[in-house]
Amino acid sequence: MGQIITLDQNMINMIAAGEVIERPASVVKELMENSIDARATKITVTIEQGGQKLISVTDNSCGMDARDLANAFESHTTSKIKTSNDLLGISTLGFRGEALASIASVARVRAVSRTTDALAGNSIEIDCGEKNEVSPCSGDKGTTIQVRDLFYKLPARRKFLKTPNTESTHITEQFTRIALANTHLDMTLNNNGRVVHRLTSNQTVPQRIAEMFSAEISANLIETKSAEKQLHITALLGKPAISRTNNKLQYIFLNGRFIRDKFISHAIKEAYHGVIEPNRFPVIFLFIQMPFENYDVNVHPTKIEVRFYNPNLIHSQILGALREKLLGTKLDIDAKLPTDTFASERGREIADAMAEFFKKHRPVQTQQQFISTPKTNFSLPRTGLAQTTKTQTLPQTRRQFLQIRDSFIVAESDDGFMVIDQHALHERIIYENLCRRLKQSKLESQKLLIPESFELNDVQAELIQQHNNLIEKLGVEIVPFGPGTYAIQAFPILLAKASPVDFVKDLLDLLNDKNINSDPERLFDEVLNMAACKAAIKAGQKLSESEIEQLLVDKDATERSSRCPHGRPTTIQFSATELQKQFKRT
Ligand code: ADP
Ligand code: MG
Repeated sequence: MGQIITLDQNMINMIAAGEVIERPASVVKELMENSIDARATKITVTIEQGGQKLISVTDNSCGMDARDLANAFESHTTSKIKTSNDLLGISTLGFRGEALASIASVARVRAVSRTTDALAGNSIEIDCGEKNEVSPCSGDKGTTIQVRDLFYKLPARRKFLKTPNTESTHITEQFTRIALANTHLDMTLNNNGRVVHRLTSNQTVPQRIAEMFSAEISANLIETKSAEKQLHITALLGKPAISRTNNKLQYIFLNGRFIRDKFISHAIKEAYHGVIEPNRFPVIFLFIQMPFENYDVNVHPTKIEVRFYNPNLIHSQILGALREKLLGTKLDIDAKLPTDTFASERGREIADAMAEFFKKHRPVQTQQQFISTPKTNFSLPRTGLAQTTKTQTLPQTRRQFLQIRDSFIVAESDDGFMVIDQHALHERIIYENLCRRLKQSKLESQKLLIPESFELNDVQAELIQQHNNLIEKLGVEIVPFGPGTYAIQAFPILLAKASPVDFVKDLLDLLNDKNINSDPERLFDEVLNMAACKAAIKAGQKLSESEIEQLLVDKDATERSSRCPHGRPTTIQFSATELQKQFKRT
């Protein structure tokens, strides 16, 4: 006798529910998406005890008549697709016809619906798959679906639910995603009799961000748009100041659907490379519109992942659009002066810098006006931009400055003053200069008066051979000098401040690092970072007036000068307005 039986429909639905309905938040998502597909303009979500006791979603959509209301809770019933052709370009959020049947198989459900032209509505009740007849009732136009006691007959599933607070957080997250993608909707979220979000229709995305996250986040976003090859992108890019330790504030929407995608996440990471520190995550709200035919949503039960037919194109277009905007934007950090004491070491240094600055620049005192007599023939730092660009002319505006603790420069800015980390800034200047030079050709080198010799083992000698091209491009000339010994004969002018032997040793470490050398682009970038760091002015190094002047001039001429290549800030801005506030002058 065979062992195989056909499962009854309710079992099938419960199993389907295992995939689609993981927790109360999944119910909220499915019900809200149904309301949106039914063209609601107003949605109200009410939950009690993290949605475990009650989830109720009310909309003002087209509604369902008695027959549809009964059918909606059967499995594989949908009004959204008919033939396999429809699967090729799904424009609705739902299409699988499984959600309502799944939900009704694992909870007590009551649905009331009234179509636009009907005089009265209908209701239906289902208790874990046990369905009652549809019966007429009064009700507003649209649909209300109430889901009570989720998983009450499935202790195993219930056990996996977290505390009501945690489940509420998941629900709020689902609500937030839908609210960001549908700013035209009037939306409300109530939790245990308290209003969590009350969003009016036709808000802008930044307004919604301000309401649902914070005004600070909303105020620190830069908008960029791009439209190319049928791919429309609108991005709100978080400035470095609001970057996070995780990627939770990265919202990606594809045609109104919240998705997670590793190609897009990678593009975001790359776009911020060097703009924020490597272990931080930028805040970003990314809205992508593209033809429905260019991707498949039928690959994941909750549709959080999609399959792009041309992921490389999407990656490169997103990366291009974001990077261009980030590089073209001034991203200096605005100083937030703490109201009481400066706690950190760095804070104290800044405080000292400020005190000294004000002491020396009292208006009555006649101060040295460093820039009033521009010097034309200073040559330091050689590693700056001075030799290579037209930016040698000093700015017209007078800028006063001063070096603090041989590490920081305090300088006047258009709107107050700034504190510059001399090493970080110089590093960025050299890095950009190296990039530009290397894009065009190789680095210009000069012969060393006395070649510097060093010893290499076989592995290292092999590495030098292998990366001959890169080494030559960098303008380093290494020649054999006896058994196991090599000598550096020429070294790049731009890196003149670095010690040639130290440089080559660090270079060898990078060439030998498997994590780095497997990706030529990464390797190249790491080499430039290392070179810039080695050649840059150090913290603790006394600078002459002309060197400081040159730094300030180079800062203005350098892209991304507000961050060092590792993503740390180079400059902190203090605005006059902020100072006035701090001194209680406003
Ligand atoms: P799907 O959304 O994949 O079609 P569901 O099980 O979620 O499947 O819903 C089944 C059908 O019920 C939908 O196709 C739609 O016709 C109808 N429906 C569900 N919710 C609503 C609603 N709020 N307003 C109007 N119709 C609805
Ligand atoms: Mg649905």
